[in-house]
Amino acid sequence: MRTETAAFLQSYDNFLLVSHMSPDGDTLGSGLALLRALRRMGKAAHMVCPDRVPRAYLFLAGADEVKKPDDAPEFENIIFVDCGDLQRAGAAGRLFESAAHSLCIDHHSTNEGYCEINWIEGESASTGELVYLLLQDLDIPLDAETAACLYAAIATDTGNFAFAAVTSDTFRTAAALLDAGLDLADCHRRLFQTNSLTKTRLLRQTLQNMELFAEDRAALSSLTRDELKRFNATWDDCEGLIDPLRMIEGVEIACTLREMMSSEVRVSLRSKDYANVAAIAMRFGGGGHEKAAGCTLACPMQKAKDMLKRAMLEELRKCTK
Ligand code: 5GP
Ligand code: MN
Repeated sequence: MRTETAAFLQSYDNFLLVSHMSPDGDTLGSGLALLRALRRMGKAAHMVCPDRVPRAYLFLAGADEVKKPDDAPEFENIIFVDCGDLQRAGAAGRLFESAAHSLCIDHHSTNEGYCEINWIEGESASTGELVYLLLQDLDIPLDAETAACLYAAIATDTGNFAFAAVTSDTFRTAAALLDAGLDLADCHRRLFQTNSLTKTRLLRQTLQNMELFAEDRAALSSLTRDELKRFNATWDDCEGLIDPLRMIEGVEIACTLREMMSSEVRVSLRSKDYANVAAIAMRFGGGGHEKAAGCTLACPMQKAKDMLKRAMLEELRKCTK
């Protein structure tokens, strides 16, 4: 599908790129790198995202022109980037209907392929690495701005080049980004060494609300709507709150729940070694990767917690290691 993907970009002239809701570094960085590449090829290209671009990514070239789906300009062809299913595209999902042709570039193993052309590499650590290969296929030289976009994509989705899915090719790609003029120290500080004061306060609350169960192999925490309001939190302040839960020695599955509306709860799941959290997320209509997944539940917080706890216990029971 890699060849078909390059041909898709070459054959048509007008594209709309779509990032997934609650956008992360991979969906934004990959999308913005492609946006630059398409324009360099002389094509008309725009990008939309159902949610606002988090402050941390506004330094990436083109991030300031990402539009809401309702403000999407006229377009012919649509490209979903790092978006595991159409629901993840939120309000941008309906733009699919008006596209002449559609393409999906993704690395979520739960992606079933909802476009005309689907380039899905479930083994790849990030969509950013796929976009890098694509730019090579298209003979598009890397510039420092594109390198920063691809670094944001790859570094954030690989836990800073540390997850099991990272290969020697991931590092070769990183080397090429440095050769292209990437300002590594600056990007690293912006992406990994900067937390808002609000996020810092939410971290404290998350740890305070944390429960351990299953002989301390499972950790779960939640933030209610009132708590989020009290700290004046936006959704990007909540990114990464799950990390210290997973870091606890002996914890195999971590879960955080965030109350969005009175009856909607956003769930993040992580595992460390052997448990499959994508399987848990899929039971509730979500998806993701074996070690990082998520879903949204339409029920009150207490019920969501109970369901997740039961599912985590069952998953842990399945893998007696
Ligand atoms: P996070 O917990 O950071 O929101 O998401 C973890 C991973 O799971 C990401 O790769 C994300 O794209 C994926 N993911 C989160 N929520 C959903 C969902 O509702 N559906 C699908 N298909 N993937 C999700
Ligand atoms: Mn990704």
